[in-house]
Amino acid sequence: MRGALDIPLEGTRSEGYHVVVDVADPAGGDLPVERVFHYEHPGTGGRTVLRVPFTGGFQIDLQCRADDPPESFGTEQAVRRWLPRLVGEGCAHRVLWVSRYHFLRKVAGSFADPSGRVLLAGESAHLFPPFGARGMNSGIADAVAAAEAVSAACSEPSRGPAAVAGYAVARRSAALHNSEAAGAVRRAAIDRQSSERG
Ligand SMILES: Cc1cc2nc3c(=O)[nH]c(=O)nc-3n(C[C@H](O)[C@H](O)[C@H](O)COP(=O)(O)OP(=O)(O)OC[C@H]3O[C@@H](n4cnc5c(N)ncnc54)[C@H](O)[C@@H]3O)c2cc1C
Repeated sequence: MRGALDIPLEGTRSEGYHVVVDVADPAGGDLPVERVFHYEHPGTGGRTVLRVPFTGGFQIDLQCRADDPPESFGTEQAVRRWLPRLVGEGCAHRVLWVSRYHFLRKVAGSFADPSGRVLLAGESAHLFPPFGARGMNSGIADAVAAAEAVSAACSEPSRGPAAVAGYAVARRSAALHNSEAAGAVRRAAIDRQSSERG
């Protein structure tokens, strides 16, 4: 859609990549139900690991370096090699899903096309790293604001252009703020890793 409208997506992409693994743990297991951020985990050769619980299991997010071969970390076979060192032997057969992603901080150049007929919302308009929990949260706020703009335009067509323009400016400004905040979280994590290293 953005391509058809000639609206660019502007921002940055991390050099390193992340491997995410969902692990079933229906009985609750021995692990505490809390988010744990482990800097330089010895079980992964000093790579940082985030563990996030969800109902019926937990997610592991392994932060890989740019030159880490995906076949050593990011395939299901590779995960079965390193995962037991993080969460115990018993979990290796309970892997539900494995995926890889890069940290993206990107925001569309405009949240509406020049004619005001297409409003971008959610991940069509912005991509944030998941660590700040801002992607879906701000996507919902976009959707509410877009619905209000469309409603205003439908009930009083003369207000349409201003309502859509107002939407595009307000939600793009929120996205730029969220992008900056998500970058600050990532920088803080990197700074802490560097200071702990020495
Ligand atoms: C590991 C990870 C953890 C995250 N954690 C959080 C978190 O804790 N908190 C948070 O707020 N956000 C989080 N996010 C971000 C969040 O998941 C996304 O921001 C959110 O799902 C985006 O929703 P969306 O509806 O904009 O896009 P999507 O969820 O991508 O939905 C778009 C839908 O459109 C469909 N589609 C695409 N093209 C077409 C087409 N041509 N025709 C019809 N349908 C089409 C797709 O199939 C899809 O179902 C996380 C993301 C990741 C990767």
